Amino acid sequence: MRIVGHLDMDAFFASVEERDNPRFAGRPIVVGSDPEAGRGRGVVSTANYAARAYGIHSAQPISTAWRLAEAARGKGLPPAVFLAVDMHRYGTVSHRIMEILRAHVDHSEEASVDEAYFDLSSAGSYEKAAEAARSIKEEIRARERLTASVGIGPNKLVAKIASDRNKPDGFTVVRPRDAEKFLEPLAVRTIPGVGPKTEEELKRLGVRTVADAKRFTEAELYEMFGKWGSELYAKLRGTYDTPLVEEWEAKSIGEQETFAHDTRDPIVLQERLMALADGVHAHFKRSGFASFRGITITVRFFDFTTKTRSMTLAAPASGADVIRFETLRLFMPFLDKRENPGRKAIRLVGVRVEKLA
Ligand SMILES: [Mg+2]
Repeated sequence: MRIVGHLDMDAFFASVEERDNPRFAGRPIVVGSDPEAGRGRGVVSTANYAARAYGIHSAQPISTAWRLAEAARGKGLPPAVFLAVDMHRYGTVSHRIMEILRAHVDHSEEASVDEAYFDLSSAGSYEKAAEAARSIKEEIRARERLTASVGIGPNKLVAKIASDRNKPDGFTVVRPRDAEKFLEPLAVRTIPGVGPKTEEELKRLGVRTVADAKRFTEAELYEMFGKWGSELYAKLRGTYDTPLVEEWEAKSIGEQETFAHDTRDPIVLQERLMALADGVHAHFKRSGFASFRGITITVRFFDFTTKTRSMTLAAPASGADVIRFETLRLFMPFLDKRENPGRKAIRLVGVRVEKLA
């Protein structure tokens, strides 16, 4: 019997800040770009639960977060604390949390800095697995004074959705026989991979919940969405099963930059991309990985539409020149109508290396 857990730290960056700065205890905390008194151009990285009560959430423009915080302050509510992302510190805490996790389980997969899957199959039963997962949560709380939400299920998909059900400090166990029933009442958007586009398309067909979407056969979903339709068919039934990926300690190394002013200037864009490529390479060299095989760039336009373009190298590489060359090659179409027919100004660019070994 396969038993998989998913651990997700609650409002991780903000929680670390709250813990390390007792004077902020209980205050709304927003970790992200500099709000520059409402003129800031980046986004919110993490908001703690007190800040979420103001409507602030991750990936929101920092200027919106600032406006919401000011509105709350105007009503006499506690002012929010805006803090810069201190990735180095969060990374250190993350390492210790992953160590705790690894001491309790045979296999784990770090999905991000604050998220991991783990295999509890060897526990033999859901009761024993739940016990083990509880002790992981307790040890993180005792040693790091941070809360995590944990989900347990028959595969990564169900475990991840389960960990998100009772945040913060959640603990949700979904046995295999309950998985379908557990998913049915949820909004179809809850299924990983269902983005706004798929959601919209399904909504037009009268689909809101997972249960609604189950009226389509696999062939019909394939017809609508291609290969992803077949995947969706299995996901809706909670049977989509993928192995834990342990090879990579981190899945990717990347950097991005939000410009002070949106730009279409090819010279500026190329110069910044090359600086990012070199930054990523320096980070890669410090990481202890020997090679990468994938390169991805991200381009966000002034209207926040975002495109990513990736390529896989024929063989693993390690040189800065490879990152530079492929970054430019991926970016070139954004300078003309191939990727930017509306000639939109660019707000942010990012470069990432993946498939690290
Ligand atoms: Mg989290």
